[in-house]
Amino acid sequence: MSAPMDMLPKCDANYAALTPTTFLKRAAAFYSNRTSLIYEGTRFTWRQTNDRCCRLASSLLSLNIAKHDVVSVLAPNIPALYEMHFAVPMAGAVLNTINCRLDPKNITSILKHSGAKVFFVDYQYVPQAREALRILMMSSQPSMMPLVIVIDDIDSPTGVRLGELEYEQLIHKGNPRFVGIDVADEWDPISLNYTSGTTSEPKGVVYSHRGAYLSTLSLILGWEMGGEPVYLWTLPMFHCNGWTFTWGVAARGGTNVCLRNTTAYDIYRNIKRHHVTHMCCAPIIFNMLLEAKPHERCHITNPIEILTGGAPPPAPLLQKIEPLGFKVTHAYGLTEATGPALVCEWQAKWNKLPKDEQSKLKARQGISILTLADVDVKDLDTMASVPHDGKTMGEIVLRGSSIMKGYFKDSEATNKAFRNGWFLTGDVGVIHPDGYLEIKDRSKDVIISGGENISSVELESVLYRHPNVLEAAVVAMPHPRWGESPCAFVTLRSDTTVVTEADIIAYCRKNLPHFMAPKKVEFMAELPKTSTGKIQKFELRVRAKAFNVVESSDQQVIDPSYNEQILALSRL
Ligand code: ADP
Repeated sequence: MSAPMDMLPKCDANYAALTPTTFLKRAAAFYSNRTSLIYEGTRFTWRQTNDRCCRLASSLLSLNIAKHDVVSVLAPNIPALYEMHFAVPMAGAVLNTINCRLDPKNITSILKHSGAKVFFVDYQYVPQAREALRILMMSSQPSMMPLVIVIDDIDSPTGVRLGELEYEQLIHKGNPRFVGIDVADEWDPISLNYTSGTTSEPKGVVYSHRGAYLSTLSLILGWEMGGEPVYLWTLPMFHCNGWTFTWGVAARGGTNVCLRNTTAYDIYRNIKRHHVTHMCCAPIIFNMLLEAKPHERCHITNPIEILTGGAPPPAPLLQKIEPLGFKVTHAYGLTEATGPALVCEWQAKWNKLPKDEQSKLKARQGISILTLADVDVKDLDTMASVPHDGKTMGEIVLRGSSIMKGYFKDSEATNKAFRNGWFLTGDVGVIHPDGYLEIKDRSKDVIISGGENISSVELESVLYRHPNVLEAAVVAMPHPRWGESPCAFVTLRSDTTVVTEADIIAYCRKNLPHFMAPKKVEFMAELPKTSTGKIQKFELRVRAKAFNVVESSDQQVIDPSYNEQILALSRL
């Protein structure tokens, strides 16, 4: 006989797919007159934003966009890009935000691989888009070319065109009462984000409505984002859909402050003018804020919450940024995890610790976001969990609904990315006795010197403590005796007088076990960065490989002419 609980009807009748587009409907209904978006001279309320998204979604349907068609967009953090995060899924389509720092060849690859049906282009990026479309045309049938729509400057239209249509015309022609295509299955795709390809070829990561919805809720909770936030768009919306805050700000009925250029001047100017409360950014932005000229800065009266991640934030940088009026929360994630998957949730008892202890705790990557099913660090050979001793390294693995559906058109890579239901991040970490995870490296970045593992992250953190160092990156350099040894690439603060390689090495030897100290320090005017602002270790590794160690003692001699030859070869 069935138990009473089993006799209850299935809830099919009240099933509603989890989708972040519902956050917009709710904001329009309950916060209708609150400011949804500010961009220089433009302001909208949530009622207007909803109205514009409905119009755009209906216009997309009138352009014959069908279910799950891909709509690509190449734009900085402007209102149109924000609106597309709702309008494109409301039309049943899949949003593909393209990194606007990519070159035309990369843009072509994405348009081709995604099979984009519509391609929105911000007026400032028309030259890159024109070239990308020219290359695409050479290898595609005319019927495969996307319909191109320019997004002109909303404040002062320039009249730039790349086809017949302009974004505001679509908004104008659309139906404000359009209700949006019903999401029948919450596992349906909502967006397609290409990885930046730091470690391998860019891959198309597909997010589901369910994953996006759950991640959004988790990040609001993990960051303790309260009601009516004023959110400054310092993080590109094209990066993992702005770590889900495109949808998250609507969920809180907050205000989006859009930003075309992420400069210190523009950040401080908008903070002051709009009383910003929240922003997300890679740690690299901290340097920009710290190095700002006196006339670019403003005095911050109420602490601004910063969520940082995407690269390890060195503890010394965390210590420097907070006295300026920023309160930092640290998150870790990757494109495949819909942005942040771990947050270093702060514990009140840590407030009593000395500041440098606090920064060290905050530099750890943290614990799983609430809606992730599980996180672990495993030995990939046995899939056994590592002990919680803060020392034993293994691969960070994740499981849960907010992990991607898979790589678009690449089942082989998708299968490789998962093992026994776990997503393998490719990052090496440890678990501390309190359960908090700390990343030690990307698996490809660990330096194995004489059988010892050296964490480049740990060494970089010491370099960042040197008073003259602005940026630092450590990679493996071939060594005849040790196999590999650490090589540091460093940029110096603008006010630095004379610092030598020997000074830096001596500083590291004083603060680290000697085997971990770099054997070579190369000073650079600027470190190479990826299109998402991360230090491009791949390029540095090529350079380090070229350092021809002609003596195998601890004091090596580098032959610089050899460098140039190898570098030239590697570029061929
Ligand atoms: P890509 O893999 O192409 O660089 P992602 O933006 O997905 O693009 O990068 C994710 C990677 O960035 C992670 O796998 C990890 O190596 C690194 N990362 C992200 N957040 C952190 C963090 N808080 N600390 C250290 N590394 C991080």
